[in-house]
Amino acid sequence: MPKSKKKPAGPPRRPAAVPPAAPCPCGRAATYGDCCAPFHQGSAAAPTAEWLMRSRYSAFAVGDTGYLLRTWHPSTRPAALDLEPAQRWTRLEILGATGGSAFHTEGTVEFRAHYTLHGHADSQHEHSRFVRQDGAWVYLDALPDA
Ligand SMILES: [Zn+2]
Repeated sequence: MPKSKKKPAGPPRRPAAVPPAAPCPCGRAATYGDCCAPFHQGSAAAPTAEWLMRSRYSAFAVGDTGYLLRTWHPSTRPAALDLEPAQRWTRLEILGATGGSAFHTEGTVEFRAHYTLHGHADSQHEHSRFVRQDGAWVYLDALPDA
């Protein structure tokens, strides 16, 4: 039974919405603790552009805006990021990727991110560009739809 009905001021923060033993939101066959959590916690850096993309999707799913901003190129990074609290990210589909490996300095990842919002299922399709900055992959921007 809740002891207090007091609601926190401002939008809810859900950085720990996914326990370490739960399946990772990014869809890899691994637990969150073994997959994207080390990236979110800063104890590891995503080795490829695709993995950074997956970890950013997971960050949307767990509400980690700090990670999203940290992995955004300074030239395109917004000053702040407000996530829609009612949006539930349900599945990530990687549709294609170019470059983005340990031997590249740039890469693209095309994906479809599925979500539900107020009970309505929808998805967002994007072809994202990633670049390596000081050795670490960061999100640059989205390519225009072909
Ligand atoms: Zn993951």
